[in-house]
Amino acid sequence: MRVTRRQFFKVCAGGLGSSSVAMLGFSPGDALAEVREFKLTRSSETRNTCPYCSVSCGLIMHSLGDTAKNAVSSIFHIEGDPDHPVNRGTLCPKGAGLVDFIHSPNRLKYPEYRAPGSSEWKRISWDEAFTRVARLMKDDRDKNFVATNETGVTVNRWLTTGFLAASASSNESGYITQKIIRNLGILAFDNQARV
Ligand code: SF4
Repeated sequence: MRVTRRQFFKVCAGGLGSSSVAMLGFSPGDALAEVREFKLTRSSETRNTCPYCSVSCGLIMHSLGDTAKNAVSSIFHIEGDPDHPVNRGTLCPKGAGLVDFIHSPNRLKYPEYRAPGSSEWKRISWDEAFTRVARLMKDDRDKNFVATNETGVTVNRWLTTGFLAASASSNESGYITQKIIRNLGILAFDNQARV
């Protein structure tokens, strides 16, 4: 379709209403017939594991941003991973609603510390958190480690500290966690997933 200069100014002078658009020969029918772009076309995919329960379903998280260092990425869609052997693409309603969990203003994103007797949580760095946990574990183990029982049998156990692992751990990280905790002598070890 060709629009002359004269036709163009005539339409602009009258305002670009729908009848004016029609005068130029643009058809709304053609525009409406266009195929809508698939919403995940330009997303970046990241695989992860649902953090909620023991099933540990595999996820694909779709985010905006081209993964360049100066681009701010934001997850806008999550679906089940069809290649994951546990869920084969399915998610229960909790897993399907994970986008809300990710963007919740109440989500805990960094370590916090509440001193004894205080009602205030204070933000601390990961370095401070790891150093404090390691210090407290070492002190408690030095004080309470039991090498032998009352009959002299070697038991190498540490009963005053417990450890809880996350259900989203992979088999490999679960295996390593188990090895470390048992090597320290801790018996009270659990996982919300019981895996
Ligand atoms: S999607 Fe549902 S079943 Fe799967 S791990 Fe998450 S909470 Fe559990």
